[in-house]
Amino acid sequence: MTTRIRTTTTRTRNRKRKASFTSLSLFNAFFFFFVFFFCFFFPKSSWKAEAVPDGEGENDPENEKNTIKRMTSSKKNNKTSNENEENDVTVVVDGRTSSSSLTFDAVLASIKRFSLESDFELDLIRQRRFLHETPELMWNERETASFIKKELEKLGIVYEDAAEPGILARIPLDGDDDDDGEGEGGSGSGESTTTEKNKIAVLLRADMDALPVTEETNLEFKSKNEGKMHACGHDGHVAMLLGAAKLIKKVLESGEEILPDEARRGKVVYLLFQPAEEGGAGAKKMLESKTMRDMKIRPSTAFALHNWPYAETPSGSFGTRGGTIMAGAGTFEITVTGRGGHAAVPHKNVDAVVCGAKIVTDVQTIVSRKTSALDSVVVTISTFHAGTVSNVMPDEAKLTGTLRSLQPETFRWAMDELSRVANAVGLANGCEVEVSFASREVYPPTVNDAKAAEFAKRVAREIFGKEEGKVLDVAPVMPAEDFSFFANEYPSVMNWIGSYNLDIGAVHPLHSAKFILDESILKNGAAAHAGYALGFLALNSTKF
Ligand SMILES: [Zn+2]
Ligand SMILES: [Zn+2]
Repeated sequence: MTTRIRTTTTRTRNRKRKASFTSLSLFNAFFFFFVFFFCFFFPKSSWKAEAVPDGEGENDPENEKNTIKRMTSSKKNNKTSNENEENDVTVVVDGRTSSSSLTFDAVLASIKRFSLESDFELDLIRQRRFLHETPELMWNERETASFIKKELEKLGIVYEDAAEPGILARIPLDGDDDDDGEGEGGSGSGESTTTEKNKIAVLLRADMDALPVTEETNLEFKSKNEGKMHACGHDGHVAMLLGAAKLIKKVLESGEEILPDEARRGKVVYLLFQPAEEGGAGAKKMLESKTMRDMKIRPSTAFALHNWPYAETPSGSFGTRGGTIMAGAGTFEITVTGRGGHAAVPHKNVDAVVCGAKIVTDVQTIVSRKTSALDSVVVTISTFHAGTVSNVMPDEAKLTGTLRSLQPETFRWAMDELSRVANAVGLANGCEVEVSFASREVYPPTVNDAKAAEFAKRVAREIFGKEEGKVLDVAPVMPAEDFSFFANEYPSVMNWIGSYNLDIGAVHPLHSAKFILDESILKNGAAAHAGYALGFLALNSTKF
């Protein structure tokens, strides 16, 4: 689409140049000079079509109409998003003059102000504590989902089931759910015919599953579900996204002075409440869900927050980075099959235990001898099970472990290498070896879009503060996140919301039975979500 528009411009230019040479009148000579000057010195980049996210609506005449319409305003405000994000850029939309950066400032200031209202914080804490008391494991977040739906209904927000118990809620900024003429979203109907392909959208995501951990805190709202605990703080993530929904609604209902009508048209914020982050690849299942596929969702950007209870990110801070922020992770299982028999006559058997032990040591060379010192890979064999009694050599040994890497290419290579080494050791020891990554989903590395990360920091400075230590550049880490599936689809950013707080004992790592979430971070987290979405949309842009 970009190429086609450029070609049209060039043709127009040539026609005008030719016409000017056919007349010798002074007026036409002057006209020629003006056209020549305009065509050759007007910066070509300002004609570049920026109106639709990459890959959207190719060869779709209906979409093309929409694209060109939006391109008209995009051409004028291109600079806002691409070149000089901190500068005040005046844009003209539909003949009216407004300042997108001023709108951005007004939106962020309002969100910050609303987030500081005491009722707002109390409500977030109420929601978070209810969820903390009732943790549910992946793909069983039913009570959690019904709680979220009730809270959304209170706010008048429509939603759909997507990869049940996942929920896709949507807030159209112009309040018009039906302006594409292709149907209407329902409230929990589970049947949507709405197509979202022409919308300018931002996606905000919270995960909602708990872990099979028995809580060891003394909190009065500790888990009531035996053996289950929100030890990764996803209860807080849900509360923050519900809070963002409330803040967005407040801004929209506050009238035109905060967010003018022209900055709302055709725009939508999606709120994804995602199940099964802890190993179930709920993000992938949501992307593959009929709901999301039928709606043809193409957000310009996606945003997620994870509480981060480590000393480098104290409560009150925000951290992110462009590029890889979290590793890719694969959980593998290796089955070694030998031939069992009496333990006293090993030469008559094929020893699966010795073969398994050699696999444990040989796969260590993947990191120590085959990976560049400048790259990062982890291979850990976490379990090794074989045999039942001391005088019987078993037929089989089973090993499980985890494989992690920061770079997508290295990750794929390490998976292949693990299989190759294990099979080679099996061959050398006369055992059959099977390596499987199928027992749990493989998560690719989470790679943040560099411009999305910069924009997240710009928003965070308005919410967390501009002082040193508030908005941080962080280093990548080896845990993994299925938000990576969204990041593979849209320009996305995963962020840390600092939650380390010595004063209240919020010092235990994620997944610890003693983990405590600092609830004072919730209001800023909600504001960061809302600020990212409305801030992006206020800038009248469709991409960074
Ligand atoms: Zn976790
Ligand atoms: Zn988590």
